[in-house]
Amino acid sequence: MRVAILTVGDELLVGDTVNTNAAWLGERLTARGADVERATTVPDRVDDIAEVVDAYADRYDALVVTGGLGPTHDDVTMAGVAAAFDRELRTDEQALAWLTDEGDYSRDDLVTGTADLPAGSEPLHNEVGVAPGCVLGNVYVLPGVPAEMKAMFESVAARFTGTVRHVERVAVDEPESALIERFDELRERFGVKVGSYPGEVVSVKLESEDPDAVAAAASWLREHAETTVSS
Ligand code: ATP
Ligand code: MG
Repeated sequence: MRVAILTVGDELLVGDTVNTNAAWLGERLTARGADVERATTVPDRVDDIAEVVDAYADRYDALVVTGGLGPTHDDVTMAGVAAAFDRELRTDEQALAWLTDEGDYSRDDLVTGTADLPAGSEPLHNEVGVAPGCVLGNVYVLPGVPAEMKAMFESVAARFTGTVRHVERVAVDEPESALIERFDELRERFGVKVGSYPGEVVSVKLESEDPDAVAAAASWLREHAETTVSS
């Protein structure tokens, strides 16, 4: 399953907030076997959100959107998603019931718009905070607050599927440029995907749907390269 991530928020673009939601979603989706093929960040602006939602909903099997829920002036994600699908925003009775029944809110206490979702969407309960999320077609709209986003994602996680890939990492204490031929050999011999991440040592990531191929590739590399003790 090919999945895209859209994170919404001015604060992400200027670096006030580190985009941990994109990283967390990338990891969780990949762990479920989904292929995360794109992560995009847009400002809190209806047109920008609508443009990306419209394009990615078509191009990918699913799109996960986070941030910009709730009724404050800079929270316009639901309006952007609604515009992409040519829907109205309207108060969702189920979402309103969650807030009034379980939360300590009366209808009148709630800021206007708190339970507004695109017409025809499936509401998602926010068990940690207030603003509800929703599912519209293949688009999943989650809150920006990381704890709220994580809890809501877990409620729909089973809908993201694919073939889980096995991974082993080997720390190699050689310059990356010296490893190119051995990387080629790893790919040819074992059919694994090879990722190379230089730092103090080179972290080599070996990946395949076949766990035996990954294990064999890792032990071959340990025999044929200067590996550090911990690898
Ligand atoms: P709420 O559900 O409370 O209404 P929200 O969906 O409106 O939240 P935002 O207003 O966009 O979310 O952001 C709420 C908080 O979460 C802010 O402090 C923001 O910096 C943080 N946040 C938003 N997006 C991300 C992200 N991608 N990664 C990490 N933190 C984020
Ligand atoms: Mg925001």
